[in-house]
Amino acid sequence: MNQLQHSRKIARKLRAHRIFGGIKPLALKARSLRSRIMPTPIPEMLILPLLQHQGSPAAPIVNVGDQVLKYQLLAAAEGPLSVPVHAPTSGEIAAITDAPVPGHGKQSQRCILLRADGVDNAIGLLLLPDHRALSHWQLLERVNAAGICGLGGAGFPTAEKLRSSIERGIELLIINGAECEPYISADEALIRERAAAVVSGAEILQSICLADRCVIAIEQDKHDALKQLRHSLESSSVELLELPTKYPIGGEKQIIQAVTGLEVPHDALPMDIGVLVQNAGTAYAVHDAITEGKPCISRITTLTGTPLQTPKNFEALIGTPVSFMFELCGIEESRHTGSIMGGSLMGLELVRTDVPLIKTSNCLIAKSRAEFPEAKPEQACIRCGFCATACPARLLPQQLYAYSRNQNLEQLEQLNLADCIECGACDYVCPSHIPLVQYYRASKQAISSRDQQRQLSAHWQRRFQFHQYRLKKEADGLQEEERAHRIAPEAAHQARGFSRDKARQEIAAAVERVATRRRNTIASSRESD
Ligand code: SF4
Ligand code: SF4
Repeated sequence: MNQLQHSRKIARKLRAHRIFGGIKPLALKARSLRSRIMPTPIPEMLILPLLQHQGSPAAPIVNVGDQVLKYQLLAAAEGPLSVPVHAPTSGEIAAITDAPVPGHGKQSQRCILLRADGVDNAIGLLLLPDHRALSHWQLLERVNAAGICGLGGAGFPTAEKLRSSIERGIELLIINGAECEPYISADEALIRERAAAVVSGAEILQSICLADRCVIAIEQDKHDALKQLRHSLESSSVELLELPTKYPIGGEKQIIQAVTGLEVPHDALPMDIGVLVQNAGTAYAVHDAITEGKPCISRITTLTGTPLQTPKNFEALIGTPVSFMFELCGIEESRHTGSIMGGSLMGLELVRTDVPLIKTSNCLIAKSRAEFPEAKPEQACIRCGFCATACPARLLPQQLYAYSRNQNLEQLEQLNLADCIECGACDYVCPSHIPLVQYYRASKQAISSRDQQRQLSAHWQRRFQFHQYRLKKEADGLQEEERAHRIAPEAAHQARGFSRDKARQEIAAAVERVATRRRNTIASSRESD
C-alpha cells in the first residue's frame, strides 16, 4: 500500500480502535498522584552519563576543575544520533570518568561528575514567546541544541526523528499521553498540571514536522488530565482522542493502531505509513526548549512503591542519584527489597541505587516483599496459548520460548523475535510462571552477538583477501620488472634502428677489412724484399 492510500485511511479512521492482544493489570497510580509535582533539592554530586539515549555518546567540552553555570553545555553531540548534555545546576566539574549507570547490559559508562555549589547560577536563556517567528528548520535546530530525546522511555534523539519525518512526509502526529504501566503516573501528572505547555509543545512539533493533523491520545480513565486538556485545546487545532485503558496501548506501534486502525508492517517504521509518535513529556520539553530556551536538564519522574512513605511525582534534575530520590520520599530500608527504573512490566531491575536518574527515567519503584514477592518456580509449558492471545505484536511467545531454550537463532529470526517489544504481557498471563521476556532478551543478545561475530569475521576475511591480493600484485610486479629489465636493452636498440643481424654483418665486414689490410701489407713487404 502506498503512502497516499495510507493517508486516506488515516483521514478516515481517526477514532479509537481496538489493539491486538494486551492485558489489564491493576492500576496503582493513585498513590503517587495524591500530591502535586514537587521540585527536587539539588544533590551534592550529579552524575551525567554521556549516553542517555539510543545512539552514540556526546563528547565532553569541559575539563576537570572547570566552573560551570546551570544550562551550560558540558558535552556536545557527535553526529546525528547523539544529543548534547547540559549542566543541571552550577558548580565544578569534579571528574570525567567511568561510573555505574542503569542498564540491562554494560553497567558502567563515561560520565561527567558535577559537584554542585548550591548557588544555582544560570546562563542567560534565549526566550521565544511565539514559535511562529522561526522556520521549521530553525525550530528543529533549537530542539537539537536542547539535548532532547524521547522522554517516554525509548530515548531516540528527537531532532533526528523529526528530521527523518520531514524528509518522508508526515500526515499524522500523535502525542502519546497513554501511560499504561500500572505504577507510572508521570505523564498524567504533567498533563494534569501543565496541559497548556503540553499542547504548546504539540503545536510546535506539528509545525516542525509539517504534519497535516495532530492528535493527543490519552486513556479515558485519566479524568483530571482529560479535563485540563479539553480546556487547553479550546483554541487549538490539535485534536483529542480518548483511548480504552489497556496495556500496552502506550507502545509506539500499539498507539498507532489504536488511533488509526493501521498496523505498522514488520520491518517498517511509523513514518513509512505517514505517522510520527512523540511522548507527552517530550512535547513539554520541546515547549520549554523553544519558548523559554531551556535545555533538557530535568524531567517528571514518578517515585512509588510501598517502602516509600510519601510517593509522588518530582521534577527531578538529570543526574540525581536514585538513592537521593528515595530518601526524599522517606524510604523504609527494612522493607526495601529491590528497585526498578521504569515500570513494573517493562522497567530495568537496578542492582545498585547510586546510579543516576537519566533523561529516559520516567519512574523509580522501591520494591517490597509484599508487593513484589519472589518469583514462583518455573514450570513446564502446558501449551495453554494464553501468551499468544495476550501478545500485542501478534507473535507466538510459546514457540519463541521453545526456540530460545534450544538457542535456535535462525528459527527465532523467522518468527520475528525482533518485533517483540518486551512488554511482558505474555509473562503476566503465563500460568507456568515462565519468565518469557528473560528468555527473549537473552536470545536477542545472542543474535546480536552472533551478528557482531559475523561482521567481525567478514571484516577479517576482507582484510585477508586484500592482503593476498596485495602479495600477488607485488609478486606480479616483480616478475614484470624482471622481464622489463631483460627486454629493455633490446627495445632500446630497436628504438635506435639497431638489429643483431645488421651488427653481425658490420662486424664481419670489419674483420674482412682488417684481414684484407693485413694481406696487402704482407704482399707489399715481400715485393720490397
Ligand atoms: S502461557 Fe505459558 S504455559 Fe501457556 S503456552 Fe504460553 S508459555 Fe506455555
Ligand atoms: S513480551 Fe514480546 S512476545 Fe511477550 S507479549 Fe510482549 S511482544 Fe509478545
